[in-house]
Amino acid sequence: MRVSKLFTKTSKTAPADEVAKNAQLLIKAGFIHKEMAGVYAYMPLGLRVLENIKKIVREEMNNVGGQEIMMTTLQPKDIWEKTDRWDDAKVDNWFKTKLVNGTELGVGLTHEEPIVDAVSNYLNSYKDMPFAVYQIQNKFRNELRAKSGLLRGREFLMKDMYTFCRDQQQHEQEYEKIVAAYYKVYDRLGLGSITYRTYADGGIFTPRFSDEFQTISEVGEDTIYVDEAKRVAINEEIFTDENIAKLGLKREELVQKKGIEVGNTFHLETKYTDALDLYYYDEKGDRQSIVMGCYGIGVSRIMGVIAELFADDKGLVWPENIAPFRVYLVGIGGEAAIKQANDIYEELKSNGIEVIYDDRDVRPGQKFADSELIGIPYRVTVSDRLMADNTYELVERKSGEKTILTHDQLLAKLN
Ligand code: ATP
Ligand code: MG
Repeated sequence: MRVSKLFTKTSKTAPADEVAKNAQLLIKAGFIHKEMAGVYAYMPLGLRVLENIKKIVREEMNNVGGQEIMMTTLQPKDIWEKTDRWDDAKVDNWFKTKLVNGTELGVGLTHEEPIVDAVSNYLNSYKDMPFAVYQIQNKFRNELRAKSGLLRGREFLMKDMYTFCRDQQQHEQEYEKIVAAYYKVYDRLGLGSITYRTYADGGIFTPRFSDEFQTISEVGEDTIYVDEAKRVAINEEIFTDENIAKLGLKREELVQKKGIEVGNTFHLETKYTDALDLYYYDEKGDRQSIVMGCYGIGVSRIMGVIAELFADDKGLVWPENIAPFRVYLVGIGGEAAIKQANDIYEELKSNGIEVIYDDRDVRPGQKFADSELIGIPYRVTVSDRLMADNTYELVERKSGEKTILTHDQLLAKLN
């Protein structure tokens, strides 16, 4: 990719009504475009980041046997009536719409009912379970406040997975397997050390707790109590003496922090499957209830979290496996330097290194500033002076560390 061809441009200012740091930075760097509060479009650089996050999530869900599907955004009302959720006052952030003939529809905010409905065409025997299906899809929620950029969208990208099991024991095994996959996802995203499995309210269907995955941050909307030694936390909403004891924790070992919910996994028991009349037949031919779990990850929220938490005063700082490109190449100087920059651009590309080449006719200072704002992990500079010594300058975005390398050292370092 050549910066001269990239249709987005960096800007010194973000929209006046944008108060969230993640969105301000992402807009200034040209990653996202604000349509309205809580609704953002992804430009080429932003989409590459989002795709990199999706890839990690997808790989880990596939590793635990998840089968990817794509459900629909338009949802029929009748299946939600069967679970008493269509008119449930607690589901107060639902966008609903109507067909021309007046038939009411839901606009997807979650997918338990539609998933059970779809699965019911195929599932009828104990031999069919366990299995897990998931999708990575835009969800729509009529959030009251959407002032946190990608952290709280009215349209946002979520990974939601659903498991179907023959009994509680099988469910527990699947559930813990998926929780283990969640840790891998957050580790690979560079959030592992600041993300805690957090006991939280289980929802209306189960007396059990759900597990939230909370990333520690001052901008978090949730208050949690962290036990650093045990690496778990409790959400304030269930922080009672009774629950603390039940979880084998101690009030005095918990430190109060702010967290951003980057994932949430639930035990759904047999609530949805029973209500939608989905059962299976066991070895004896007896009809049995099906135990479900559901597992969300806030994909676009995570992009906002990483943008917000890792940034410095110069701009975004992407971890290597999420960055839109690995190298930002800058050519400075006369014809010979530009020729060498062109050559190293082609060579890096042919080595499979993702490189964005700032070939614009602008001041070096602007190229450096943009490379920092955009947050590409490595900047490589070719200039007349460096060329005289047959060297390249490599600057690491995160540490700011500068090294002067020969051609072979540079390739060895980036390969
Ligand atoms: P919150 O409490 O933050 O409103 P939630 O508990 O309603 O979220 P879930 O239904 O558990 O959200 O959704 C699964 C995941 O999707 C959440 O853990 C979060 O990471 C993400 N998510 C939920 N709502 C939003 C939103 N409005 N914008 C971006 N991501 C969201
Ligand atoms: Mg939640």
